[in-house]
Amino acid sequence: MAEHGAIFAAMLREFNVAARIIDLEPGVWNILTHPKRQIMVSCPVQMDNGEIEVFTGYRVQYNITLGPAKGGIRYHPDVSLDEVTALAAWMTWKCAVAHIPFGGAKGGIVCDPTKMSRRELEALTRRYVAEIIDLIGPEKDVPAPDVNTNDQVMAWVMDTYSMHVGHTATAVVTGKPIEMGGSLGRREATGRGVMIVTREAAKHLGLNIEGATIAIQGFGNVGSVSADQLSKIGAKIVAVTDWKGGVHNPKGLDIAKMLDYVRDHETVDGFPGGDPLTNEQLFSLDVDILIPAALENQITMENAPGIRARIVTEAANGPTTPDAHRHLHERGIFVIPDILANSGGVTTSYFEWVQDRYGYFWEEHDVNVRLEKKMCEAFDAVLKTSLKYKVDLRTGAYIVAIQRVATVTKMRGMYA
Ligand code: NAD
Repeated sequence: MAEHGAIFAAMLREFNVAARIIDLEPGVWNILTHPKRQIMVSCPVQMDNGEIEVFTGYRVQYNITLGPAKGGIRYHPDVSLDEVTALAAWMTWKCAVAHIPFGGAKGGIVCDPTKMSRRELEALTRRYVAEIIDLIGPEKDVPAPDVNTNDQVMAWVMDTYSMHVGHTATAVVTGKPIEMGGSLGRREATGRGVMIVTREAAKHLGLNIEGATIAIQGFGNVGSVSADQLSKIGAKIVAVTDWKGGVHNPKGLDIAKMLDYVRDHETVDGFPGGDPLTNEQLFSLDVDILIPAALENQITMENAPGIRARIVTEAANGPTTPDAHRHLHERGIFVIPDILANSGGVTTSYFEWVQDRYGYFWEEHDVNVRLEKKMCEAFDAVLKTSLKYKVDLRTGAYIVAIQRVATVTKMRGMYA
């Protein structure tokens, strides 16, 4: 196995804290801290200028104890085996917390998709899939979109796989277009899940969600749906920022109008319903709830001391550095960890996979009712565990995940 890098080491630190608390058996500990499979492939692509470039791709299946591996594929110049392995491990714990029968995986290709044509991207995607084809499949490993990949890329993955196996296999990927076996409600699922766990946290803390003030960083898929969903249950979204700038209105922003504005302007910057606001200012606002929904490492020891919210819902992946997280927890701020807060996405991916395998598609209402139930159960399990062991919710979530995977690991026993 390759040497671990800094990102995998960060995952291990979180894992080890939880494993120590529950006194995890050394053998199981050893298994759960090793990736099951790490695959590296070379993908030659004829570029539009006639030259051949060879791209490096990875697929890591971290753990498949609970079911088929599940996780996105990202296209980015900084993709590395270390990053993909850590992300695959996090998917393992996220699926276990969500209590869905999936293991964890992640894939990535080292490339800059902003500099590639649509034809080059399609060729790269198809070649990558061909290289890993023996390892993926509805019962083996089910990819999904991630950074710089989308439903079109998933359509190419599905088509390439289907052409190789000789029949249409919709369940090989999730995050597909609705017309070819995608699930209703999938696009909104992560933000809907963010709304549900935030509402449950407020209930637990005795904070009335109706009228509660919320600041959100990021107004993309997750941030905008979270804002919309939370405003629909009566919360007051008072501030939103994105890559370009932001807007603040203590009386509350009109989210429906903001969604229209962003469709036309591709940013919330300049939205006429409030005053300009920077990302730095967003974090120190006097609000009840803060939702980072943009990028990793946004809450650091630089801005954490200024945070005044009672609840921080980690809608993005890894938005809080470990030091800042400790600081917030010590100040009594209720941090809903990413592996719980944004698990609505993978939960609805599971629903998509179920519908594809069943060949029977649910109404959007049914998807949402099932998501509500799964998110509430996951929140409850994590909260109860964190109270039982007197730990923060992140450690509580890891404990839930580790116990679920460890139990099945022991039941299945060792094949040798
Ligand atoms: P997106 O690309 O749709 O939106 C990202 C948003 O962040 C945009 O509004 C963008 O303007 C903003 N942003 C970018 N750079 C910024 C900066 N420097 N400062 C402030 N804002 C900035 O992405 P998304 O799908 O909404 O994902 C957001 C986060 O949620 C990511 O961490 C992602 O991994 C995580 N996540 C997404 C899903 C999903 O289903 N989409 C599921 C789980 C986790």
